[in-house]
Amino acid sequence: MSTVIDRKTKPAVENLRINGERLWASLMELAQIGATPKGGVCRLTLTDLDRQGRDLVLKWAREAGMAVTIDKIGNGFMRRAGRNNALPPIITGSHIDTQPTGGKFDGNYGVLAGIEVVRTLNDHGIETEAPIEVAFWTNEEGSRFVPVMMGSGVFAKAFTLEHAYAAKDTEGKSVKDELTRIGYVGTEEPGAHPIGTYFETHIEQGPVLEDNDKTIGVVTGVLGIKWYDCTVTGMEAHAGPTPMALRKDALQVAAKLMQEVVAIAHRHPPHGRGTVGMVQVHPNSRNVIPGRVKFSIDLRNATDQLVDKMDADIRGAVERVSKESGLPISIELVSHYPAQPFHPECVQAVGRAAEKLGYSNMPAVSGAGHDAVYMARLAPAGMIFIPCKDGISHNEIEDAKPEHITAGCNVLLHAMLERAGVA
Ligand SMILES: [Zn+2]
Repeated sequence: MSTVIDRKTKPAVENLRINGERLWASLMELAQIGATPKGGVCRLTLTDLDRQGRDLVLKWAREAGMAVTIDKIGNGFMRRAGRNNALPPIITGSHIDTQPTGGKFDGNYGVLAGIEVVRTLNDHGIETEAPIEVAFWTNEEGSRFVPVMMGSGVFAKAFTLEHAYAAKDTEGKSVKDELTRIGYVGTEEPGAHPIGTYFETHIEQGPVLEDNDKTIGVVTGVLGIKWYDCTVTGMEAHAGPTPMALRKDALQVAAKLMQEVVAIAHRHPPHGRGTVGMVQVHPNSRNVIPGRVKFSIDLRNATDQLVDKMDADIRGAVERVSKESGLPISIELVSHYPAQPFHPECVQAVGRAAEKLGYSNMPAVSGAGHDAVYMARLAPAGMIFIPCKDGISHNEIEDAKPEHITAGCNVLLHAMLERAGVA
């Protein structure tokens, strides 16, 4: 697609804006593939529907003049050449797989916003110094195959290609077989692709932007996480004949600790989070005093130091509650994901773009994992959040406003141009 543009009609770069209607139309068209009756999308990774989604996105990329590379884990890279193609590309991307009851925007927005950036540059005949690429990462959701963020994780060498290939779904089908079946085993070695800078645009998946009535979240980083299993051991006994003073009620003791989990999060604002999401009560019978309770603890905060302070607090609480109650309590760390701050230059580029474009904005942290977390280990990375209705995602009712979709993509455009350099 080569259009001759009269230099005089070429808009100054600062006046460049994406075509919001075109982006919205593409989002709605992609959402037709795997559309659910309730208005959501079910496009599980490496299914026939995923293949159709990938095919459509790559068709759009080729129509926009982009060259396509697929790597061995099925990550796709769509490239718009720059003036100096020896420079590492400025990449944006996300994922197009969804949860079983997913929405139209989670992931899909980040990929199609990248395509829209390229279409806009084409419309106006803008050449960048560094090449620009749009990526989609395989199996970000982790719904059908574990681990989550699989494609970007292999790319960042968080785990091996063989480990990812061997993962099986509930029917016993492997990633390798399904990737082969849909025709998306590429030739490039994952991670071989250079990255100059990585940006990802995403719906917030939380309520903070909407609550603050802000259009853009300038994401400073992703929360660190520690997961624990906690077990309180008491003694089962009959609920009737056993007086209160003579009980070893594991659930009552566990309940005290559960309150502590929430209190600890409150003591570490503004980003402290504490959640007990899973409880197993033994024997789970109406008229038996619970003899054993096992529950999960999920602690999060913006820095590893703060997560460590929360860790020390919960361990202290376990010791104290155990001493007070006389019941043994074990706490075991089962997973740890370090906090991932984004690169200051990328955070600033996003903030500057939002300011320049006149969008209300605020610093934000991501409580959820994203492909950008792995990219941040390899290159300067940053994220742009836009509000989603009631902060809800991973749900068919997930919704976002067209003006926010447009705003986030405009911020992406200008942040990418700043990093790529305009020839
Ligand atoms: Zn996502």
